[in-house]
Amino acid sequence: MTINLSTPSNWPIHFNKPLIIAGPCSAESEEQMLATGNALKSHQNLLFRAGVWKPRTRPNNFEGIGRIGLTWLKIVKEETGLATTTEVANAFHVEEALKQDVDVLWIGARTTVNPFAVQEIANALKGVDIPLMIKNPLNPEVNLWVGAIERFADAGLTKLAAIHRGFFAYNNTKYRNIPQWQLAIELRRRIPGIPMICDPSHIAGKSSLIYEVSQKAIDMNYDGLMIETHINPEKALSDNNQQVTPKQLNEILGKLVVRQAKIEDPVFKSSLDQLRIEIDDLDYELVDVLKRRMNVAEKIGLHKKENKVTILQSNRWEELLKTRIQHGVDNGLTEEFMNKVLKAIHQESINRQTKVMNK
Ligand code: PEP
Ligand code: MN
Repeated sequence: MTINLSTPSNWPIHFNKPLIIAGPCSAESEEQMLATGNALKSHQNLLFRAGVWKPRTRPNNFEGIGRIGLTWLKIVKEETGLATTTEVANAFHVEEALKQDVDVLWIGARTTVNPFAVQEIANALKGVDIPLMIKNPLNPEVNLWVGAIERFADAGLTKLAAIHRGFFAYNNTKYRNIPQWQLAIELRRRIPGIPMICDPSHIAGKSSLIYEVSQKAIDMNYDGLMIETHINPEKALSDNNQQVTPKQLNEILGKLVVRQAKIEDPVFKSSLDQLRIEIDDLDYELVDVLKRRMNVAEKIGLHKKENKVTILQSNRWEELLKTRIQHGVDNGLTEEFMNKVLKAIHQESINRQTKVMNK
């Protein structure tokens, strides 16, 4: 389906690129909200965020302050002049947020995965063209993300944006959620013109990594950043490791290099950056696959040792080389290249197995 988007200049808030969305993960008290809002109000072009209902992975964590948080959000808006945003996860949330004049709504990652919930919210928003930002689903499935955006577009919403907050990773990685930048690139290809916000807080999971993720997003021509900001992060009731203070936020924003189009064509530059980031991700994936392959080779070594079998089984190696080279050639890689790569990998596997054998 074609998605009818109105440009951010039609949003009822200031949306100059990059839009900065800042404020606590969760609304905790009126004092905390006002202190954070007051510390942020000097920024032009800042949208104040706070979660009121918190979708937590496991029970017995702080699940948000509930409805009263919306009245604090309204007080922040009245006292500071900042526009506000909060997360909605069902029709009741929508109704309450609209009653309290929240300016922009967002859909969380745990909601985007659920078409029933998305549809319920879309139905509740029929006829209300409020700006709405849709976070990527937890799992790296771009169709779910596109599908959620389509459901809101179908309900008549035109002020839509996407928030890239990273994807659940089964393995431990540097970041709390793996960015998978190529999925955000794919979303933008599928929905041209959709404003793209990066949420470096939930990608990084750690305040010290927020700057580097933010810079990468800006280099990829994102339209904004959502950075969780708390007046006292250590005391935060949710996501305390990844929240920054308003002062740290200023430092991050001060360091950000927003590259201007110079002699180079900006379109060329940004697509080049996107491709390089894709290469970076693929290289990390390659290393991960190689590591896993070597671990399996070690297991085989152990197995051979226990059964008193030699390391090199020539038949197996010959057959492997032949079929893998053919597979490579079928996929557009040259025979020479495949040969070199496979031999290097094989040699390393033998080294690993030898080590295991002689332990
Ligand atoms: C949040 O923004 O605080 C939040 C709960 O995010 P996500 O849905 O990305 O986990
Ligand atoms: Mn959070």
